[in-house]
Order: sequence, then C-alpha cells, then structure tokens
Amino acid sequence: MKTKTQLAAEARAAGQKLFTATCRHHGPGSPHYVSTTVCQQCAAEQTKRYNSTPKGKAATARNSAKRSSRAGERYVYLLKCKAAGIAYIGATTMALSKRRSEHFCDLRHGTHSNPELLAAYQAHGPKSFTLEVLAQFPGQPVEKLRQYEQCYMDAGEILGLRLVNVRRAKAA
Ligand SMILES: [Zn+2]
Repeated sequence: MKTKTQLAAEARAAGQKLFTATCRHHGPGSPHYVSTTVCQQCAAEQTKRYNSTPKGKAATARNSAKRSSRAGERYVYLLKCKAAGIAYIGATTMALSKRRSEHFCDLRHGTHSNPELLAAYQAHGPKSFTLEVLAQFPGQPVEKLRQYEQCYMDAGEILGLRLVNVRRAKAA
C-alpha cells in the first residue's frame, strides 16, 4: 500500500492540489492536501478549533485589522471656491487631511496643477475655499472609486456645479 507521501507526490506530479487517501478520522476516500498530506476535513476542523481559542481569535482580529488598513481610505470629495463659484471633485486613497493639505500647499505655492483653482485661490485666498467629503467607500478597489468619482462629477454638473475638473477621473 502506498503511503500518503507517495500518493501526494503522484498527485503533485499530475498537477493536482488534492489526493484521495484514508483518514483515520474520516475514513477511506477522504480528500487530502498535496502540500501538507493532511486530510482536508481534519484541517478545516483544526482551523475551526484554533480560531475559537483566545490565541486564534486574536490572530483573526489581527488579520482583519491588517486587511482593512491595507484596503485603506477611499474618499470622493468636493473642493470649492465660494467667491469664484467653482468646484472640483476629486477622489483619493489618502487620509483626507493629507489630501487636503496637499491641495492647499500646492495652491499656496502656486504649484497646483489646476489653473482655474489656482487663479481663484490667488484672487480670493484660502478663506473662500472649502473641502468636504461627499462619500466614503472604504475598502473599495481604486477602479471602483474612479467610477464613483465620475458619477459624482456627472451629478455635480447636473446640479449646476461649475466643475473645473470635468472628465478628469483620476484618483490621487
Ligand atoms: Zn480527516
């Protein structure tokens, strides 16, 4: 009779992820992982047991915290100059405070890439500017965020905002 190691080697050679063997808990014909030669059902039960221990619970919490911080922040925001009556809709994956200070830093130093915003800032100063969050989409892929940004730009135009960044749909 072939050992699990032999069966696993054969299955691996055949490009399979699982092989069938006898598990002392789950009987003959149980699927086993090629990578670990462990019964699939045993592994699932073991994971479940581990996850219910304090150590397992802590690990699960750590992983989900890590996932959500990797997913990061997603905002669609509105930057407005009241005096000039112009608006700019943007999307960002940065913390909003960081994106805000980037905009204002570029405006203050005259290096902002949007000429209308720059002219408005130079004419009316920072007091005329506001930046507000329109929506948050935590954990959404960047492509989705761009689509949402475009939706908000379309809606903004319909609602009569004078957007100075129409057709610019790029997350920064
Ligand atoms: Zn088993």
